[in-house]
Amino acid sequence: MVLELAEDHKAFQREVARFSADRIAPAAASIDERGEFPRELIKEVAARGLLGVTIPATWGGAGRDYVSYALALEAIARASAVVSVIASVNNSLVAEPIARFGTQEQKDAWLRPLVTGEAVGAFALSEEHAGSDAANQQTVARLDEQGYVLNGRKVWVANGEAADVAVVFAATQPGSRGRGVGAFLVPLDTSGLTRQPTPESLGVRGLGCVDLLFTDVRVDADAVLGTPSDGFHVAMWALDGGRVAIAAQALGVGQAALDEALRHARAHEAFGQPIANYQAIQWMLADSATELEAARMLMWKAADARQRGERPTLDAAMAKLAASEAAHRAADRAMQILASHGYRRGSVVERLFRDVRATEIYQGTSEVQRMVIAEHVL
Ligand SMILES: Cc1cc2nc3c(=O)[nH]c(=O)nc-3n(C[C@H](O)[C@H](O)[C@H](O)COP(=O)(O)OP(=O)(O)OC[C@H]3O[C@@H](n4cnc5c(N)ncnc54)[C@H](O)[C@@H]3O)c2cc1C
Repeated sequence: MVLELAEDHKAFQREVARFSADRIAPAAASIDERGEFPRELIKEVAARGLLGVTIPATWGGAGRDYVSYALALEAIARASAVVSVIASVNNSLVAEPIARFGTQEQKDAWLRPLVTGEAVGAFALSEEHAGSDAANQQTVARLDEQGYVLNGRKVWVANGEAADVAVVFAATQPGSRGRGVGAFLVPLDTSGLTRQPTPESLGVRGLGCVDLLFTDVRVDADAVLGTPSDGFHVAMWALDGGRVAIAAQALGVGQAALDEALRHARAHEAFGQPIANYQAIQWMLADSATELEAARMLMWKAADARQRGERPTLDAAMAKLAASEAAHRAADRAMQILASHGYRRGSVVERLFRDVRATEIYQGTSEVQRMVIAEHVL
């Protein structure tokens, strides 16, 4: 057994890290401060193949494996959490399910534009009372002679402000929970569909979150991704990949926090010497380094399982849980090590501290990951 990245993976990791440091990191503070969706930067991310990392080259993607995708997201997140979330939604939650479940026509219409950055994708599953309980869909898709009519409200749709298309989940058999949900590819300029900005968020600012309101929104019957009652499976399949991606994202943010803590511990003096000389500080740094590395191994394992075509549900849940909580602790320790230098508004650690918190909430809270894991181990 060799727990080592292949040379090709390492080269790709270096390439994305260089791009992220040169082009993304300098923009991170201002994206956060202004809370604006970084449209131009996302085009650059697309030009590098990073909006369709695992999508075959025939559709304009980079055609790489899932480990490469996870490495890319970790490198991007080390520079900017929000850019990595935008990329992960487009990759895992929109492009990948279209590539997997889409018809030739659906792929022709959306896959290439999504991957090349001509279009942005969003994923609309959550509702006011369908967050953790995602099967409790109250948005309804009613079939008539001309197709489906959608009514309802989706909340917290990341990328929604800039998106051209969303994968929208709605009950095709109301009351049947996960057995009667359809996934629909809905262009966001469809009549009857309106976007409302969600309230400002603590972190990952600039994600372009909106609520989507559907009032008699008509889509053709061929807008269904998969079968009309199998949308919940589409959602869960997409989230398996998405959780690997959020694990990678959390690791990037946690690593950035550790980097900041290391830099400050070496440079900052108290009682006449660098604080890095004190064991209390060294132990915090050692704990963060160890926990992030342990979570990284789980993340690699989950990415590899996804690549091999296995349902990585358990591995992905473990990776997301471990990585998001390790990263949270790393950001918390970084704050403690930087003390007043971290706590001030506009410090890098202050942003990382806010950004990392979301990784324990979206694409399934830590409690939901524990439920998934418990179901498997029991
Ligand atoms: C920044 C951000 C971006 C997001 N982007 C998207 C997106 O692009 N698309 C999308 O569809 N959604 C998105 N979401 C929504 C996100 O997926 C939900 O917020 C998340 O699933 C939790 O749902 P909730 O907020 O409704 O909390 P709830 O489900 O109401 O949970 C509240 C609390 O109760 C706990 N809980 C719930 N049920 C149980 C249980 N059975 N046992 C133990 N504890 C339980 C939860 O873990 C949590 O602590 C986003 C959210 C955020 C914050």
